[in-house]
This record gives sequence, C-alpha cells and structure tokens, in this order.
Amino acid sequence: MNVATCPFCRIIRGEQSAEILYRDNSVICFEDIRPITPVHILIVPLEHIESLNTATAEHQQLLGHMIFTARQMAAGTRLERSGYRLVINTGVDAGQSVLHLHLHLIGGRAMPFQYGPR
Ligand code: AMP
Ligand code: ZN
Repeated sequence: MNVATCPFCRIIRGEQSAEILYRDNSVICFEDIRPITPVHILIVPLEHIESLNTATAEHQQLLGHMIFTARQMAAGTRLERSGYRLVINTGVDAGQSVLHLHLHLIGGRAMPFQYGPR
C-alpha cells in the first residue's frame, strides 16, 4: 500500500470522500465507514506511516497529539461521561487492514473487553 493507492492518503488529498470532523497541520479525523460502535472516529496522521511498528522516535510528538486529539473529539460529547476506548491495531494478529497508522475512537455503548477462545 503506497501513498498513491492508500485509502487514507486519498481521503487526506481529497480524492476520496469521507465524513471529516477535524483537521489540523498533522492529523485528520473522520467517521469510520463501517462503525463497530455508535461512535467510531478515526484519528489519522497526515504523514503516511504504515503502522506503529514503523513509527520512529521523531514521531513521538505526533503520537501524543493523536491521543490528545481523540480526547478533544470526545470532549463535550456524551462520551466524556459514558466512556470510550482508543485502539491502534498493529499487524496481522490485530487485524490491521489499512496500512496507514490510525487511532480508533470508539464508544456510545458498553464494550466488554474480552476475546474469543485462544
Ligand atoms: P484497521 O482494521 O485497524 O486497519 O482499521 C481500518 C478501519 O478503516 C476499518 O474500521 C474500516 O472500516 C475503516 N475504513 C476503511 N476504508 C475507509 C474509508 N474509505 N473511510 C472511512 N473508514 C474507512
Ligand atoms: Zn496513507
């Protein structure tokens, strides 16, 4: 997946539509196209970083900004009181399907933290 074909880079360049909620100099936030919870927002760096595995020390501020942006997206909404979860799927076992780093902000219902059989 390169920057030409990457679905998130295409959204960032305006080549593909998305429900964009926020954008600044380093991140963009939009609605997940297949929400798994009533609220499901993706926080995506403008830079094409494949996954957390390829993030470097230079990305530390950006990584912190992604988490703080998620907190800001929750601020003032019902999530602030009801709760929410941040998820970064990394690699095959986590089911990462888009190879452009992104943070999921999910909430709006109770979310049991358990997995199927090992
Ligand atoms: P992950 O499995 O962690 O890589 O998550 C990728 C997420 O991106 C999934 O939840 C998809 O539903 C979402 N997704 C894929 N393509 C788009 C798109 N064009 N617009 C919005 N969300 C998307
Ligand atoms: Zn990309």
